[in-house]
Formats: sequence, structure tokens, C-alpha cells
Amino acid sequence: MTHQSLLNDSQSKIELGISACVIGDKVRFDSGHKLSKFVTKELGPFVKFVPVCPEVGTGMPVPRPTIRLISDKERIALVETKDETQDYTDKMLAFSNQKIASLKLKQLCGYVVCAKSPTCGMERVKVYSKGGASKEGVGLYTQQLMQQMPWLPIEEDGRLNDPVLKENFIARLFSLRDFYDCMGDEPTAGKIVAFHSRYKLTLMSHHPQSYKELGKLVATISEYDIDEFYELYRLKLMQALSNRASRKNNSNTLMHIQGYFKKWLSSQEKQELRRVIDEYREGVLPLLSPITLLKHYLTLYPDAYLQQQKFLAPHPQDLRLRYSL
Ligand code: SF4
Repeated sequence: MTHQSLLNDSQSKIELGISACVIGDKVRFDSGHKLSKFVTKELGPFVKFVPVCPEVGTGMPVPRPTIRLISDKERIALVETKDETQDYTDKMLAFSNQKIASLKLKQLCGYVVCAKSPTCGMERVKVYSKGGASKEGVGLYTQQLMQQMPWLPIEEDGRLNDPVLKENFIARLFSLRDFYDCMGDEPTAGKIVAFHSRYKLTLMSHHPQSYKELGKLVATISEYDIDEFYELYRLKLMQALSNRASRKNNSNTLMHIQGYFKKWLSSQEKQELRRVIDEYREGVLPLLSPITLLKHYLTLYPDAYLQQQKFLAPHPQDLRLRYSL
């Protein structure tokens, strides 16, 4: 199967920003890489990588001296480990601003960064000071990325080995791609309302409070300039989806869907469906089990609202994500 054929025909390729070393480019300080097999093998078929090595981008050679973040209370600086007078902070900030401005012109749907790097790390990066080192820093480039594109799903390579974090990140990638596809060249109130309608159950499963808040926000869409609303909705949507869909919230959403079939199912079928949802809630069955049963009933008893819900098919089955959740 070709990469492109794994994607839904109507779906554009997902552009994924990535620390270049994570897809195997030998750009690290020691001429090595940090290839992530999950990213290249499992995610690769669904995305188009946009690799960036900010250190090479600022003109640093390969190999090069190691660098680190230091704090002098006034600011955090990016300097050479063995010679702190070699300060790359301003160069890195200038590169970051220029690169991120160009990334904003693309419909980037996510970003995978290399953990622990003083440039690319997303969290718990070491910051050195006279008193020692703390693990409270963020890589200088990634910090700018997070500030300037706050809606963008960003994850570290290592964290994607966690099945729950992986599922959440991928769900966000596909949702943002879907959002861009639905908006096309020109967002309209009608397009946003239609998109939101398809994501109601997804939002319910990720964060019930945001589900309510976004519903209220969308009800006031006519009061906004459409471009302003587009930006606000995209941000709120992606913030809501960054909450992991818990077993409890997923189970409540499944129970909500079950209500649509009440009048069609026999008491035995209802009991069976209830049992499967309860066993999912208790951790005995994976999410795929109740979803498969509900989809079966949806085929027998079609419902236009449920059929369009992304909750029932958030990403391609080939990714096999709901088998372990
Ligand atoms: S972590 Fe970032 S800066 Fe370092 S080699 Fe990888 S891409 Fe380049």
C-alpha cells in the first residue's frame, strides 16, 4: 500500500514539523541522529515531514561543541558548554522567528521535537546556574514555537512511546487536518458550525467542560468577525483536545451514544451493549470493542448525527491505536 493510499481520498497529507535528528538526519553535535522508529515507520505513512534542525539553521557546523541553557536570573541564554562567552541566544531567537513565520504559512498540523535538547526539548530541559542545574527549562526554539503557534499539537519523541499520549497526539493531528480541510480557502460560519457538530462527541470524551464552553462559543459566532472566530475556535478546539480522553469520559460518551439506539434494541441487546461499555470502563476491554458494537448498530439503525461523528472514527484504523486503550 502506498503512503498516499492510506489516507482518506478527501484528506490532504498531514504536514508534521519535526526535529531533523528524529527522522534520522545526522545533524546532532556528534554527527549522530536520534531516529524514532515509531515516527518514521508508524506515523510516516500518514504524514509529510517538515524537518528542521534549528542549530544547523543558525549556521552551527556538524559536528559542533555542545551547548546548554544557562540562567543568570535576568534571562535564559543558550551558550557553549565549555565556553559560556560563545552565546547563541540572539541567533537562535532570530532563526526561530524567521522559521516559525514560514511555518505559519503552511497548514502544519503538529510537531515532534527531540527531548532534552536545549534547543528542541519541550519540557524538563536542564538549565544551569551558579547553584547547580534544574530541569525546568524548555528548548529555546520550541519555546518560541509554543508561544507563536499555541494551537499546534507538539510532542516529544520519547513521550510518543506512551500509548495514551500517542493516541492523543495523533487524534489532534487528524483533527487539525480535518479542520483545515473543512475550512478550505475561506472559512465561513456555516463551515465552522458544521465542523463543530461533527466533533461534539469527541469533545465530550476529551473534556466535558470544553464541550459545553465551545458549544456556547459557537452559538455566538454571528457576533464575531469570521477570521477572528476562526483563530479563537481553532485555539480552543486544540486546547480542549489536548486533554486526554479518559476511560471515564469515553464511557460516558459511549453511554450517550447508546441512548440513540434505545428504541431499536431488544432488552438483551441493550444488556449486552451495557456490559461491553462497563467492561471497557473497568479496563477489561479496549475502546475498540464498544465502538465496534456501536458501529454495527449504526449500520443496522442509521442516524445522520451519529454517522458524522468523528468520535467513532478519529483516525485511520491502520494506526491500530484503540486496540490498547
Ligand atoms: S535536537 Fe534539534 S537542534 Fe539538536 S540536532 Fe536535533 S534537530 Fe538539531
